[in-house]
Amino acid sequence: MLGCLPVLMLLAAPPGPGAPTVELWLGGDVHLGPGGKQVLAPLAPALQGALAGSLPARATEPTPPAPLACLARYYAARPELRDGKWFAVLPDGTAIPYDDGRAKSFEQKLESPDVEDTFSIPYQAGPIRPVRTPDEDPGRIRLDAVFKATYGASADKVDVVPIRFLGSPLEVHRKAVSAFTAVEKRLKEALAKDPSLEPYLMGVGGTFNWRNIAGTDRPSSHSYGVSMDINTRRSHYWRWAKGPITWKNAIPQAIVDAFEAEGFIWGGRWYHYDTMHFEYRPELLDPACFGQ
Ligand SMILES: [Zn+2]
Repeated sequence: MLGCLPVLMLLAAPPGPGAPTVELWLGGDVHLGPGGKQVLAPLAPALQGALAGSLPARATEPTPPAPLACLARYYAARPELRDGKWFAVLPDGTAIPYDDGRAKSFEQKLESPDVEDTFSIPYQAGPIRPVRTPDEDPGRIRLDAVFKATYGASADKVDVVPIRFLGSPLEVHRKAVSAFTAVEKRLKEALAKDPSLEPYLMGVGGTFNWRNIAGTDRPSSHSYGVSMDINTRRSHYWRWAKGPITWKNAIPQAIVDAFEAEGFIWGGRWYHYDTMHFEYRPELLDPACFGQ
């Protein structure tokens, strides 16, 4: 689901005084969006050949920075170069700078990120490890405007659909249904191998809920129907703990693996730990988004 295909993109130029022109942009990628939807369809090879033979190719099209190009794979945002600076442009015309040039604290990145900030802390899947570095919270820096453009800007605009997940009725965003279904399949396989996982997966919920993150005025990712909280009684959350932040976790590796394999990040990878929380953020699990 995180793959990409080579593609030849066509940019239709505005009609000029002469014959209509079509520009070729070679070397772009087409990608699968959230939920596995193909964002752009590749042209048939015969058509590619015919066009390449008859029209001038734009060989030096500037390449957007990897994280920006990658964002466009999964979200309603396209890279655009304006006066030498890259932006993520949303369908309503909002332009978010790739790099706003400001030096920011972690709190400032949370409050007003540019695209680069959202990728500034790499997400590391694999064996569970304690997180001891202050503010190592990969994925907590979110571009709310991008989420709203992709998933819906108000509670009634978020396209949620009912699903059953391990027997529980839940509502999730239509674009994330296939990702949730794929996680459920993996969890069922893990449960068959190890029934001791079951208590952690009882009473899963907290999927779609239009609300702010506790203690902030920023929207929670639960607002978009792309997150899930597993059994809260088996979970640890930094806001529930007294005293200084000390990472804790009881969620087993097999559960974390099942979600991460399908593009979900886990709140147990955060210094500000939230071990019940899984969130569909395929861009953070795609090495190409970090230029690898
Ligand atoms: Zn949550």
